[in-house]
Amino acid sequence: MKSLSTIASNVQASTTLALDALYKEMKANGVDVIGFAAGEPDFPTPDYIKYAGMAAIVHDETRYTPATGTLALKKAVCKRLKEDLGLDYEPANIVCSSGAKHCLYIALRAIINPGDEVIIPTPAWVTYNEMVKMVGAEPVTIVCTEAENFKLTPEKLEAAITDKTKCVMLNNPSNPTGMLYSREELQGIADVCVKHDLFIIADEIYYKLLYDGREFTSIASLGEDVKELTIIINGVSKSYAMTGWRIGYIAADKRVVSVMSKYLSHSTGNPSAPAQAASVAALNAPQDTVEEMRKAFEKRRDYMVERMNQIPGVSCLKPEGAFYVMMNISKLIGKTLHGQVINNADDFGDIFLKEGLVCIVPCTGFGDPNFLRWSYATSMENIKEGLDRLERFLAE
Ligand code: PMP
Ligand code: GLU
Repeated sequence: MKSLSTIASNVQASTTLALDALYKEMKANGVDVIGFAAGEPDFPTPDYIKYAGMAAIVHDETRYTPATGTLALKKAVCKRLKEDLGLDYEPANIVCSSGAKHCLYIALRAIINPGDEVIIPTPAWVTYNEMVKMVGAEPVTIVCTEAENFKLTPEKLEAAITDKTKCVMLNNPSNPTGMLYSREELQGIADVCVKHDLFIIADEIYYKLLYDGREFTSIASLGEDVKELTIIINGVSKSYAMTGWRIGYIAADKRVVSVMSKYLSHSTGNPSAPAQAASVAALNAPQDTVEEMRKAFEKRRDYMVERMNQIPGVSCLKPEGAFYVMMNISKLIGKTLHGQVINNADDFGDIFLKEGLVCIVPCTGFGDPNFLRWSYATSMENIKEGLDRLERFLAE
């Protein structure tokens, strides 16, 4: 066999997906493990969305669609962008694809030349770094500390820019930190991007999941100059509990859309036609079910944060959005737990899974080895039991 692609061989597998698979395997083998690894709503897809998907199948909407999605779906996306974010886009600005993950990939494909640098403020979702490598670019990480609320500042951004910088990946609110950028904070970042003519890949997939009455600002809404540079990434997975349907969408300048469209026409073809029809229903209908899920997430967050901060040895900030909590274990580094020296989050995750029977994600791959991520997109019962187990695990 000849050698395989160097780029592909250097890609690290997704820790979130690997841990979720491991948890499911343990569970299937009868182990009493609780999983907090995958960022996946535990709610079923709302019925009206399921029925729209079924109706599409019954009415033979089962053929190829345009590569970038149906007009109905693009119109529904434009409606949400206008009503939720005050943004004016036309269907010609929209690209729909098989999940926001693939949308991110296509966005990078459309703008990257080999050797370009892509700035990633960390902690960041594990996929960003690998995907940037997959398109032949260089990931440039900017570490944003807990003391900075894990957020990028304009000064730090400015300092990381070189003549090779092509784009910044900004996830707001963030997976894994749960932090939300305010309008003012976004303005500072937008000004630097406009000054240096940098694209902004704005991953807004958690924009509907905000807490304590917070409001969301899309960076694209800060002016025509920044809108032209912004490639908005979104999708139905998180807001509508539709992770398995695989529909994501992009809003961008028509020049970027044109390049993405050609690329898609030779790669995926189109996203699943019935899933597109279901997504039209999700985006067009009154958004009450989203609000019900958001409220449930908020209650779970409150419980998890309060409990975690009472357990000696660990702590966390209170997330403002998304459905993740970053647990700080820096006080445990160098200590021995259940016979194992804890050098980093991976060691903790390993022993907590084996001895504590709880699966959480070490944030090493997210850019910070002093933290582990808990997803609270699971039942209150599981959350209570998971934290009881943490308390017992640390007390022994
Ligand atoms: N962006 C972020 C920040 C995420 O956490 C996820 C979750 N997988 C995605 C994008 C992709 O979502 P999906 O592909 O399910 O639409
Ligand atoms: N985004 C989710 C997570 O961070 C889903 C798993 C994945 O695709 O990484 O857990």
